[in-house]
Amino acid sequence: MGKPAPGWRGRIVGPRAERPHQEVISGGRRVRSRAAPPLGVFLESEIGVEGGRYGFTGREALREVVDHLSEILRLGLPERTVSVLKGTQIGMTTVAIGLALYCVRVRRLNVGYFLPDQDFANRFGDTRIRTAIRNPRFSAAMRDGRYKGASSKGLKEFPGPDGSRFLYILGLNEIGNAISLPLDVLIRDEVDDLPPENLAWSNDRLDASKIALTFNLAMGRKPGGGIHAMYEDGDRRTWRVPCLACHEEWNLEEHWPGALGPGASPELAGPGLVCPRCGASLSRAAGRWVPSGEPGAPGHASWRISQLAVEAIRLDRIAAKWRAARRPSERAKFRCSALALPDGGESQPIDAALLRLLREPSPYSMEAVHL
Ligand SMILES: [Zn+2]
Repeated sequence: MGKPAPGWRGRIVGPRAERPHQEVISGGRRVRSRAAPPLGVFLESEIGVEGGRYGFTGREALREVVDHLSEILRLGLPERTVSVLKGTQIGMTTVAIGLALYCVRVRRLNVGYFLPDQDFANRFGDTRIRTAIRNPRFSAAMRDGRYKGASSKGLKEFPGPDGSRFLYILGLNEIGNAISLPLDVLIRDEVDDLPPENLAWSNDRLDASKIALTFNLAMGRKPGGGIHAMYEDGDRRTWRVPCLACHEEWNLEEHWPGALGPGASPELAGPGLVCPRCGASLSRAAGRWVPSGEPGAPGHASWRISQLAVEAIRLDRIAAKWRAARRPSERAKFRCSALALPDGGESQPIDAALLRLLREPSPYSMEAVHL
C-alpha cells in the first residue's frame, strides 16, 4: 500500500465515485470511475504528523489494523468491532484520528471520537484533529457544528454537496449534557476506566446506523477489565517474530526480558533482541500477526500491539526504562505502557490468565465466583 491505488490522484472523493456501473455509463461511453482511496493511502497522503506526512516505516505492525478497518468500510460490513490493546507512543491515536477524518471526508459517515474527559476532548479538537489535516481546503471546510440547536462544543461539521457530516469529539466521563447525535462510527480512545453505563450510552448512538463500526484503542491497566476485556472478546492477534536459526516464532512481550540481548545497552555490542531459545538475533519488524486460534465474538477483531512490535520506538530506550523500573509498581507500569500487558501491580494480584485458568472446566468444578 506504499503506492497509491490505481486511479487515485490524491484527491478526496465522496461516495459518488462508488456508484454502480450503469450510473457512470453515459452516451454509450464508459466514464472512468475514480475509486475511493483505501484508508492506508489516505493516512499517507492526507494526515500530517510532526515533521511531515504519516508513514508506516517503523510501524509496519499497524498496517494490518488499518487494512482491516479499510476493508470493513469498503465492503460496508455491518456491526464490526476492532479493539487494540496497545503500548503507549506506538502511533495508533494518529491512525484513529486519520480513521475519523477518512470516515467523514471519504466515506461520508458521522463519527464519534470519545476520550476520557471533556477537558481532554476540548484540547484534542485543536491540538490533534486540526493539526492532522494536511489539505488546507479540507481544513477550511471543517467548522464548528450545530445539531438541533444543541451546543456545538466538540462538534465539527463537514459540509458537502450531499449534506453535512459530523465529527463529535466528546469526553465520556460526563455525558450528562451530551446531545443524541446518531453516529455510524464510534472511536473510543484511552477509555479504559469508564463507567459501563457511559460505554453503553456511546453504543446506543450507533443504533440507527447501517455500518455501526466501533474502534476501541487504549493502554490496558486493569487485567480482565476495560480494553483488556475487549481484546479478550475479539480474536486476539499477537505479533510473532521468526527466528531464522531455529524456525520458532516468538511473541516478544511474552518473553520479556528473556528476548533482550546485550545490544539493547548502548555501551555493549551485539543483537538487540535475541531468540529466547537459541540466542540468534531477531528482527522486530519482521513479524506477522497470528490470531489466538480460538474464535472471538463474531465480527470482533483484536490486536495486542506492544512497543516491541514498533521499530520506531527505540529498543535501547525501552530497555533503559525496564532497568530503571525496580519497584513492583514501576514494573507493573512498564508492563502496561511498554509491553501492552495489563498489570494492576500489587493492588491487583488477580490477572486475566488466572481468571481464565479458574474458568476452565477441568480439573476444577466451580460455581460462579464473585471477585
Ligand atoms: Zn532460535
